[in-house]
Amino acid sequence: MPDQHVFDSLFPADLPGPQHWADRYPPRDLPAGAEVTRFCPSPTGFLHIGGVYAATIDADVARHSGGAYLVRVEDTDQARLAEGAVSQFAEAFSYFSIGSDEDDASGRYGPYTQSRRSLTYLSYVRELLRQGKAYPCFATKAELAETTAQQRAAGAPPGYYGRWAIWRDAPADRVAARLAAGDPYVIRFRSPGIAGGRARFTDVIRGELIQDDNRNDAVILKSSDQHPRLPTYHFAHAVDDHLMRVTLVIRGEEWISSVPLHHQLFDALGFDRIPYAHIALLMKQDGGSRRKLSKRKDPEASVTFYIEQGYPAEAVQYYLRGLANGRLAEMPLAEALATPIRLADCGTAGPLVDLVKLDDISADFIATLGSQEALTRLRTWAQTQDLALATVLAAEPDLALRALAIEREGTANPRKDLHKWADFRPAYGYFFPQLYSVVTDPADPRFGGLPVELVRGLASGFADEYQPPGPDGEWFTQIRDLALRLGFAPNQKDYKQNPGAYRGSIRDASQVIRVLLTGTTRSPDLASIAATLGADEVLRRARAVS
Ligand code: GLU
Repeated sequence: MPDQHVFDSLFPADLPGPQHWADRYPPRDLPAGAEVTRFCPSPTGFLHIGGVYAATIDADVARHSGGAYLVRVEDTDQARLAEGAVSQFAEAFSYFSIGSDEDDASGRYGPYTQSRRSLTYLSYVRELLRQGKAYPCFATKAELAETTAQQRAAGAPPGYYGRWAIWRDAPADRVAARLAAGDPYVIRFRSPGIAGGRARFTDVIRGELIQDDNRNDAVILKSSDQHPRLPTYHFAHAVDDHLMRVTLVIRGEEWISSVPLHHQLFDALGFDRIPYAHIALLMKQDGGSRRKLSKRKDPEASVTFYIEQGYPAEAVQYYLRGLANGRLAEMPLAEALATPIRLADCGTAGPLVDLVKLDDISADFIATLGSQEALTRLRTWAQTQDLALATVLAAEPDLALRALAIEREGTANPRKDLHKWADFRPAYGYFFPQLYSVVTDPADPRFGGLPVELVRGLASGFADEYQPPGPDGEWFTQIRDLALRLGFAPNQKDYKQNPGAYRGSIRDASQVIRVLLTGTTRSPDLASIAATLGADEVLRRARAVS
């Protein structure tokens, strides 16, 4: 091993030692049982709904225990950084109330972005080098590819270990010469794992797990020809979770296989191990089988989908909490949002994300909102997702309020025609002249195939004798009288008994009026719509058919 001086010369002369960081980030003064959790997204792409799921659990466990929940941005993979990812995270965090309890301005354990903590990692890398627990490796990409090919040919598992770890025990003078020549290198961890070794650990959700131990000399510091010089995830998370005084790591199950390496790193660094809770990944039913929810294939995998579609955060939170702990899905929404998630109740099988179920939950939730509250939320959504609609709503707030109030206010069974705010345009757009195209063609299929003369007769008859809705609730009588006059049956039963005697049933006639006024074949009560539109607009629409 080269002497300490050679390794020390690889680092800034004034680089502090580990004690400096240990003093700077002292243990937290928290009550017994308080958990410090963290959510650590990598800004290599947009946030996955699984991230919101994990962060929801993180935040809930920490906050209910009287501890702290923090968000740490893991951006050590600088080559894969996606533009705009961090600001999309911020939007998603605020939408779903999973923003960090501490940040660079308020928290004493920051910075909370890994690329801004590079000096800290260097202190610990230097320490491991000094102790012989890490070493520089000069293997080039081509040499590593060659090793992998040889391993394949020899039937040996891939990796940098044992006799394949060519720089692990390289003579000091060779190492010193390569360093002096300025050759690029990475720093690798000298794994204490041995062939055939097993690692045993307890997962907070899964209980006792036994796995092959790690014997790979993992890279802990990336190549010396990259700037800034950053560690790998494995190393950085160990240093950060220790110094941020995290007490419980909740993360996706894809990391279970890394636990043996992570424990070796914690031990080598002299840190107490931190309990891991590996949560099952969100799944999707795909035909007869289940698969991981995929960012590439499933739009609902991206958090952006929920924000763009305007699912109220409460509905999504309620849904996700129910996926985490089935018992929460059995409770009413407000109670489920306030009841702690229990890690012990998180299953080990990935829960299915079912948009139909979410739509139902969300429609139920929106149906509980008063018209004014619904309008406020709708306008907030439209301001970022549908500016044209936002403009119309700003111009016509009273009309919007009256439209939303139909079959919502004063009923025990409010309409459930909005699953999300993006449904407003198709479901309520016809209330707004600015958003509505009048139906002009009497042969339009929405009229149900009635002869054009009959459609014209209904439209003009209705317009000519139009009576706006009054307090007597008799508004529909005018449609009924007109329909009878034009030869429609007074009810479905009469029509069924003697279809040849009529032009259709009263239902067919009122559908024509519905299509004239709304452009749709399904709508709330027509009298309420007519009252909301006002007589001028009703007549304009009725007279548009020619
Ligand atoms: N940055 C890692 C990821 O995005 C976080 C894993 C962890 O929570 O430790 O997968």
